[in-house]
Amino acid sequence: MARIVMKFGGTSMAGTERIRRVANIVRKQQAAGHEVAVVVSAMAGETDRLVNFCREANALYDPAEYDVVVSSGEQVTSGLLALTLQSMGCKARSWLGWQLPVHTIEAHAKARIESIEADELIASMQSGEIAVIPGFQGISDHGRITTLGRGGSDTSAVAVAAAVKADRCDIYTDVDGVYTTDPRIVAKARKQTAVTYEEMLELASVGAKVLQTRSVGLAMKEGVRVQVLSSFIGDDAIPADELPGTMIVSDEEMDQLVEKGEMERQLVTGIAHDKNEAKIILTRVPDKPGAVAHIFGPLAEASINVDMIIQNVGRDKGETDVTFTVPQADLTRAQALLEDRRSEIGFNRIITDSKVAKISVVGVGMKSHAGVAATMFKALSDRGINIQAISTSEIKVSVMIDEDETELAVRVLHTAYGLDAQDEAA
Ligand code: ADP
Ligand code: ASP
Ligand code: MG
Repeated sequence: MARIVMKFGGTSMAGTERIRRVANIVRKQQAAGHEVAVVVSAMAGETDRLVNFCREANALYDPAEYDVVVSSGEQVTSGLLALTLQSMGCKARSWLGWQLPVHTIEAHAKARIESIEADELIASMQSGEIAVIPGFQGISDHGRITTLGRGGSDTSAVAVAAAVKADRCDIYTDVDGVYTTDPRIVAKARKQTAVTYEEMLELASVGAKVLQTRSVGLAMKEGVRVQVLSSFIGDDAIPADELPGTMIVSDEEMDQLVEKGEMERQLVTGIAHDKNEAKIILTRVPDKPGAVAHIFGPLAEASINVDMIIQNVGRDKGETDVTFTVPQADLTRAQALLEDRRSEIGFNRIITDSKVAKISVVGVGMKSHAGVAATMFKALSDRGINIQAISTSEIKVSVMIDEDETELAVRVLHTAYGLDAQDEAA
């Protein structure tokens, strides 16, 4: 017997028919003798719909009220799953964020979980009741509903798994594991048996939305065993306990898998893309000490995350252009803020472009192998794809390109690093 937390995403919960399929998967895990808690997302598209209502009601919406509205999608699906399980003869109940409770910091719309009170939950699971928990939501110290940022149900699931000391946290979604790249873009993408926490963290943070970045960081910190697998399965599917999906593992476990021949050591684990960034160019900024501090200080104070930065070669007269990227959602705010500081910073023009995409290549193998970036630049240039900015970390190289070339770039790189499924057979 094990204690399992199962999480089902929006596509898996979209409508009563799919919820019935989910209930069946849950019921089987319990019938296999496990104690089970389930974390659910809102139905696919529902959170977007609720966000739009907020925008229509008040363009400058209060994030605390936004949280009241957008958290409601998960309330509906958690109740519906509990009802469906009951209709199948299972004991089940929902536990809303404020009922557990899931304590979070005050930061509405992007709250972080601080702790989960799990004693009652554990007692209920031990009594054979299936606990159904709406993901994405928590409660602040002031007793108000908070949400964890888009895709946050993954983090709810990992946090619940840590709190109840679960043996495994199974993230059921609409693909059957973590692939070498988004399988919806590259048909030849390959499913991975395992990915390390470090690689998954980097992949998620550069746009592989299969897991929310924070959920991976939390799993790594708390040592939660996470498996990504599909909820779109038939009765003959391999049981979840046999790990049919992708396991997120420690470096040591990965070494063991490689030794046993179950995994190949790869230079590049995955390729991700992100269309949610926007580029800002400030022209003719004074080329002197302190100039960039005047630009990035105010953006940091406004909690606007700057990602890629390039300071171009200085022009004549001690001036230079500075190019950087910010999340698209923050572009208008960033622009207004920079305009306000125009005289202090001393730039000439602001040029913005939201039709850009960031393509990233990730792999721990890069720590010990040179040439990964060079392969990337050559493969892109052979296809005439222009690189507008570059950034690197120990295990990642990212480039910014024209958004229209996203799919082509991902496919070209997937082939260039020998990741295409057919290469395996070759
Ligand atoms: P859920 O609603 O279940 O949380 P998401 O839509 O958030 O599902 O995440 C699953 C999606 O992530 C897949 O449908 C797939 O298109 C996308 N994805 C992006 N990169 C990858 C990858 N490397 N491996 C698998 N899926 C990926
Ligand atoms: N429903 C929320 C969203 O769409 C949370 C989640 O699904 O993980 O962002
Ligand atoms: Mg998701």
